[in-house]
Amino acid sequence: MSGVVEGLNSVKADIASACNEVGRNVDDVTLIAVSKTKPIEMLMEAYNVGVRDFGENYVQELCEKIELMPKDIRWHMIGHLQRNKVKYIVGKVSMIHAVDSLRLAEEIDKCAAKLNVVQDILIEVNMGREETKFGVFEEDALSLVKEIAGLKHVRIRGLMTSAPYVVDSEENRKIFYKIKQLAVDIAGQNIDNVYMDVLSMGMSQDFVAAVKEGSTMVRVGSKIFGARDYSRK
Ligand SMILES: *Cc1c(COP(=O)(O)O)cnc(C)c1O
Repeated sequence: MSGVVEGLNSVKADIASACNEVGRNVDDVTLIAVSKTKPIEMLMEAYNVGVRDFGENYVQELCEKIELMPKDIRWHMIGHLQRNKVKYIVGKVSMIHAVDSLRLAEEIDKCAAKLNVVQDILIEVNMGREETKFGVFEEDALSLVKEIAGLKHVRIRGLMTSAPYVVDSEENRKIFYKIKQLAVDIAGQNIDNVYMDVLSMGMSQDFVAAVKEGSTMVRVGSKIFGARDYSRK
């Protein structure tokens, strides 16, 4: 068995046992294989055992991989997105995870309108209030959602967060719990064009804790593909 397949099996087993522990249906959790910096051969190993959701952070790399990989893949743009790069990915990706300003959403809306599509997006929330991270603070999420909800060619599907780096993933459970509550609160406002059926949280270090707290999309890279080597890029 290849390292990629082994990694996938182990991550899937951990998701299943986390679901089992808290009484969730494993089908309600989508595993996104985060393949940034990894070569096509490794992505194909995952594809060949059934992976159809891939996550990438960099627009150019993402576009190259979209060209080279089979067409039935759902691509997730999970990284910070600059407005001048939006035009390259709208309509090609199934979800843009890290929208944290009205200006970015407006650019997505403009590009989607040209293509006559509706682009699914998530609002990134900086739950850990880290200076080094993007995303809106918790208390600003609802007003941003309300502003973006008026755009006809974007559809807010939920929230996304990257929790702080921790040694013990249980430390992040409180953060995951809080963003789930925030999503429930926003859903309760019944805003037109806002769905809140997706909660994108949990990475290699903490996806088990995230699943236990209600994540519907975990973004796992190194636990599947191995550590990333940025020096060769
Ligand atoms: C790279 C990345 C991941 C995956 O990180 P791993 O620790 O390798 O699982 C998930 N989410 C975002 C936003 C990332 O940039």
